[in-house]
Amino acid sequence: MRDFKTLLPSPSEHAAFVHCPTAWWLKYRTGVRKKDSAARMVSGGAISEALGEFYMPRGVASGPMEVYDTMMKAAMEGVMGGSEEESWLQQVALDRETLLFYISKNEPVESDWEAVVDAQGRIEEGVNLVPDKVVILKDGRVRPYEWKTISPFADLEYEKLMYNMGMQPISYAKMCEVKYGRPCTDCGMKFLVRGKLAKGRWKAEGPGFESYIVQVEPWKKVMWESSANFVNAGMQFVDWISQEEGFKLEYIPKFTHNCVKKLGNYTYPCDYYPACSVNVHPLQVEGVFEERGR
Ligand code: SF4
Repeated sequence: MRDFKTLLPSPSEHAAFVHCPTAWWLKYRTGVRKKDSAARMVSGGAISEALGEFYMPRGVASGPMEVYDTMMKAAMEGVMGGSEEESWLQQVALDRETLLFYISKNEPVESDWEAVVDAQGRIEEGVNLVPDKVVILKDGRVRPYEWKTISPFADLEYEKLMYNMGMQPISYAKMCEVKYGRPCTDCGMKFLVRGKLAKGRWKAEGPGFESYIVQVEPWKKVMWESSANFVNAGMQFVDWISQEEGFKLEYIPKFTHNCVKKLGNYTYPCDYYPACSVNVHPLQVEGVFEERGR
């Protein structure tokens, strides 16, 4: 569990707290997650490992697809033959296609890069971050890259806008400057758009890919640090409430305006909605949640 005093929250943890302090506390301080998010999460992790192999081969596999397939085979051992088998197989089919598409459209070293110096490496310079890869550019600057696998129903232009003002590129750039001792003025984004299965009136669609550069001005770095400090103080407060004698889940603030979101024609409830909507602790809702790593 992250120590509030020595490490600032990652951009994802920051976003979770702003979404809802209860959702943040459940996910980051108790490790309670929804079971059906497992296929998406595990496959997303396998994609990251496979892309790490694409950019910095470690010689332990014959390529990124082998890394992905080996990881997913191991992860699905306990799933095959059970009720979740079909959803896992569908997720793997979509993600395999997305990964193959990405590899066919990218080079392991691009024309303005001197070298890839890190892939999936952890940076702990005041904040706990894992940039997907870090490259040294031919002009001497350092550039972190983030790949983001997005739903075919998400709005790509909106995603780009969010990253333009978001914490992720800004915090990565700041940390990379500290770690590599070089100027960092931008952050690269690689969007992998998952394919779409045919469903109802929707036709099946193949995966997509787009590269995007976010400019990181100095004022953004200052803005990120003050926002991260502010949110970190709020997190410490919530964590302190949870350690008080007689604590109940309802004592943690709940941002109920975020319980349900609409994206295009689809409605997405928050992962914890099945518990919050009936006012019980998630672990008391049978078969929906489990305690995983924090
Ligand atoms: S369902 Fe609503 S109240 Fe509950 S954790 Fe999610 S956003 Fe917060």
